[in-house]
Amino acid sequence: MTLWNLGSINADFAYRVPRLPGPGETLAAESLTRGLGGKGANLSVAAARAAARVAHVGAVGPDGRWAVERLLEYGVDTRHIAEVGEVTGHAVIAVDPAGENSILIWPGANVAIPDETRDAPLAEARVGDRAVAQNETNGQGAWLATAKRLGLHTAYVAAPFDAQAVGAVLDVLDLLILNRVEAEQLEAALGRRVADLGVPDVLVTRGADGVRWHGAEGVQDFAAPRVEAVDATGAGDTFAGYLLAGLDRGLPMAQAIGQAQVAAALMVTRPGTADAIPDLKDVQDARL
Ligand code: ATP
Repeated sequence: MTLWNLGSINADFAYRVPRLPGPGETLAAESLTRGLGGKGANLSVAAARAAARVAHVGAVGPDGRWAVERLLEYGVDTRHIAEVGEVTGHAVIAVDPAGENSILIWPGANVAIPDETRDAPLAEARVGDRAVAQNETNGQGAWLATAKRLGLHTAYVAAPFDAQAVGAVLDVLDLLILNRVEAEQLEAALGRRVADLGVPDVLVTRGADGVRWHGAEGVQDFAAPRVEAVDATGAGDTFAGYLLAGLDRGLPMAQAIGQAQVAAALMVTRPGTADAIPDLKDVQDARL
């Protein structure tokens, strides 16, 4: 089956700086690396590395063709990525010698995805395919509702967190993935426990403490493998991509969680985002 991922595509510009610039200061950076990022692109890469058939739905500007090429190289179907007249979404990341960072994000093309770009893949989708979205694009609520009506399995990664955005999609979700802080924020905003949202499966990721699954059989905790963490960036996206790919391959939820946790644990032992996501062989061979 196909995993349709409506998601962001960012250029991550990472600058090494002697110190983080203060107000009014102009500072020369020592180096620049440009990488593929954005929660959506990371999830697509993770699912593709986990051997899923994944089609990315989104938008870039004319300056983002390289990012589309990169997704293609990872095996992601890029036919439903529009080129629009906005700058490609990007993050400007300054990192000082101590590893402290400051990050500026501009959503750009990610929030200018044309209606027809979102609609076209759903016309191609088949019953039993999976649709997933996060909160870095425009129009994901209506898109997930249509996907659900068409008989797709729907999943939502509630990041970056916005209580209203999550609240608006709860009724059409089969699966909700959120981290511990987001789960607490959602419970406070809605006055309901995550187990009582009416979503069949809710997964709360808890960093090094693992994952809590609220499903039909109650609550189950899964410990995370113990690793030496180097860079947690993209752990959540790697977990979500691997999880959906595993479910798509027919793994039961508990096994899909186990495999996704190994992938995420490997990810935190490596610096970088999309390019650091491990492939399925690494995950299957890992002895963690
Ligand atoms: P991020 O924003 O960094 O992508 P997140 O806040 O969305 O992450 P987390 O709950 O921090 O999500 O991490 C997602 C999953 O990654 C965890 O459930 C766990 O499986 C794995 N993970 C994260 N940090 C660690 C760690 N230090 N050791 C082992 N596994 C980890």
